[in-house]
Amino acid sequence: MDASPDIVEVATGVLRLQLPINFTGLGHVNTYALEDDKGFALIDPGLPGEESWKTLRSRMDAAGIPLERVHTIIVTHSHPDHFGGAGLLAEESGAAIVASDRFRTFFDLADIDDRELEAADDIDPGESPIPSIRIERPSPWGGSTIGPPPEHRAEMLAHRADLFKWFKVPRPSLRVADCDHITLGGRDWVGLFTPGHTDDHLCLYDEEGGVLLAGDQVLPTITPHISGLIPGDPLLMYIESLDRLSDLPDVSIVLPAHGQPFHDLAGRAEEIKRHHDERLERLHEICDAAGWANVIELSHELFAPRSWGSMAEAETFAHLERLRATSAVQRREEAGILLYHL
Ligand SMILES: [Zn+2]
Repeated sequence: MDASPDIVEVATGVLRLQLPINFTGLGHVNTYALEDDKGFALIDPGLPGEESWKTLRSRMDAAGIPLERVHTIIVTHSHPDHFGGAGLLAEESGAAIVASDRFRTFFDLADIDDRELEAADDIDPGESPIPSIRIERPSPWGGSTIGPPPEHRAEMLAHRADLFKWFKVPRPSLRVADCDHITLGGRDWVGLFTPGHTDDHLCLYDEEGGVLLAGDQVLPTITPHISGLIPGDPLLMYIESLDRLSDLPDVSIVLPAHGQPFHDLAGRAEEIKRHHDERLERLHEICDAAGWANVIELSHELFAPRSWGSMAEAETFAHLERLRATSAVQRREEAGILLYHL
């Protein structure tokens, strides 16, 4: 669904501005705005880049949100359609960025090894504030990489001057740990650490108003992607995060980062869990038929060709690791590649 130009009050005191997204068929991301007597907090201000920035500014004008009144930017997790606009908005408005205490993007230099730093060395740092843009790390199954996909990386490098005009690395000045409280829009919100979609996903819950800002953790019509890059059992983490949200006593409205607000959180959570149970069952059958096979091969059985690629591989890996944790499949390594079988 394409981004709507309409500004909608989706819950008491919560405005929704929709920004365009040109990938993964999502069409839009919801940016929520909360006002208090000092100004506005904006949640997930969209992708990096000129189109998203200009749309954000025109939506803010339409909503009566002057740039200089934005005092807080919340980023729910480290996906570009959520953090991409945050750094520039913070720089232009002077706002503070708030994210999970685990928040980290692939633009961060804090967590890379020497080899990667060497690879970054041949970019002139004066030319680019983000030399780490070339960082490439093998995924656990030896297939894809963290960071921009290789086919986009060359293009990003070629157009880096343009890119960095419209993108600043988001640097949170306040990090919210699980169960920390924060005041936004004059109301008290509790931060809920909800890993699985990413390892730094943060939901915000206004207990008194019954409002859940759900980020990508629970979406009304699509099943959130499960990360293949979280060590351990990311699908289990995701399901446990989902159960935790379902158990919240008084959620009356869920505000997702994509799609329309909805009310039946527990019902939607059950649907998503059923979907994963079905996928696990299907993958188990595939493993039975395939013999020893790697993640990419199995992802090609589990997904239709139009979905093949790093997202499908990551999700297949997460499901395989869930099956392995229940002893339904076993794993071995051959020449650095993981293989699975019943
Ligand atoms: Zn996401």
